[in-house]
Amino acid sequence: MKIHEYQAKEILGRYGVPVPEGRVADDADEACHIAGTMAYPVVVKAQVHIGGRGKAGGVRLARTPEELRSAASAILGMDIRGHTVQRILIEPAIDIQREMYLSLLVDRARRLPCLMVSAAGGIDIEEVAAATPERILRIHIKPTLGVRKYHVVRCSAFLGLPPSTAKVFGGIVDGLFRAFLAEDCSLVEINPLAIADDGAIIACDAKITFDDNAAFRHAEHEALRDDGQEEPLEVKARQAGVSYVRLDGDIGCIVNGAGLAMATMDIVEHLGGRPANFLDIGGAARPEQVTEALRIVTADPGVKTVLFNIFGGIVRCDRVAEGILEAIKRLDLRIPLVLRLVGTNEREARDMLEGTPLLWCSTMSEAAKRAVEISRNSAPMPPALCEQSPRAVLTEPV
Ligand code: GDP
Ligand code: MN
Repeated sequence: MKIHEYQAKEILGRYGVPVPEGRVADDADEACHIAGTMAYPVVVKAQVHIGGRGKAGGVRLARTPEELRSAASAILGMDIRGHTVQRILIEPAIDIQREMYLSLLVDRARRLPCLMVSAAGGIDIEEVAAATPERILRIHIKPTLGVRKYHVVRCSAFLGLPPSTAKVFGGIVDGLFRAFLAEDCSLVEINPLAIADDGAIIACDAKITFDDNAAFRHAEHEALRDDGQEEPLEVKARQAGVSYVRLDGDIGCIVNGAGLAMATMDIVEHLGGRPANFLDIGGAARPEQVTEALRIVTADPGVKTVLFNIFGGIVRCDRVAEGILEAIKRLDLRIPLVLRLVGTNEREARDMLEGTPLLWCSTMSEAAKRAVEISRNSAPMPPALCEQSPRAVLTEPV
C-alpha cells in the first residue's frame, strides 16, 4: 500500500527524521491560509501516489501570496500520469545546497533489507542505477543487528559528508531503519535528502510503501489509504476480497491460488498470449466472489476472453460453477469464456453448467491454448465451440 508524501513525512518525523513543517490543503484558499502562517518562499507540492512530480510541474516555488494562489490553482486538479491531484502540501522552501538519495527496501534475492545511498539525489534513482551504478552504495542490513556505526561511517564517507553532518546523518539512517521495521515497510525513500545552505540536513521528499502482508498488524494504517489514487478495478477487487492486479494484455484470468494464477499467466505468455490481469479468488472463494471477479475482469475493455483455471481442492467446483451461472445471468457478457475446472465436485459443476455458452477444456494447457487463439482472432467464437457440452469433454474418470 502506498501513502502520500505528507503522510510519509509525518511518520518519519516521529522516528526522528528532520522533515519540513508542512500542512496539506484541498483548495487554494486553504493553501493561502496555511502559507500565511509560514515565511515565504514556500513550496507547493502535488500529493499523488507517483514520483516525478517535479518534472511534471507538480512542485512549484511561491515567493508571494499571489504566486502561491496561482501555483495552487495550477497544481490542484492536474493529471500526473493518470493520477489526479486532489490535495497539495505547503511547506517552507528549503535553500538546497546539495541533494542526496537515501532509501531502505527489501532485497528479495538476498532476503534482507538493503540500505541505498547516493550523492546523485533529486533525480530518478533508476536513471542513476542504469547510467552510473558506481554512484550508488548498497549495504545489506541484518535485522537482528540493525544499523551499526560502521554502516553509517561507510555511507558518510561515500557521500563525502563533513563530520558535523555525518552525526545527524547517522541519526537519520537509524530513524529510517526503525520506521522501516516497526511500520512493516517494503520501501522507505528520501529523495532528495537535502543539505540546506545553513548545513542542516532535511528530508525534502519522502515515500513509503507498506507491505500488505503485514496489514493485519497495522489497523492504524487503514486511515492513510487514499482509494482515489489507486486503480479503480483494484480497489473494487480488494473490497470483494479478491487479489487482482491489472496488466495490459487481453486475456482475463480467473484462478484460485496465487501460485496457480502465476502459472496460468506464465503458460499464456509461453503460448504467445498476453494476460490482462493477475487474479486469485482465494482458497475458500464464495460464489459471490466468483461473480464479482468476472465483473471486475470483464470491466477492462481490453479483455477479449476470460480464462478460468480452477483446481477444486478446498474450493469446490460446484461453488465456482454457481458463481459463474450467477454472473452469466446478471452480467451482459459478450466475450467467450474458456473454462478448466477440475477437482472436488467437478461432475456436479459440469451438470450445473450444461447448456451454458462456455468453452470447456480438460487440461490447463488446452484451455490456455484456446484462450490465446481467441485473443488472436478477434472474430466471435464459432457457435460449435460455444455450444460444446461440458459432458462431451469429460475425458477422464472423475
Ligand atoms: P518528485 O519529483 O515527485 O520526486 O518530487 P520532489 O519532492 O523530490 O521534488 C522535486 C524537486 O523539487 C527536488 O528534487 C528539488 O530539487 C525541488 N524541491 C522540492 N522541494 C524544494 C524546496 O523546498 N526547496 C527547493 N529549493 N527545491 C525544492
Ligand atoms: Mn523526489
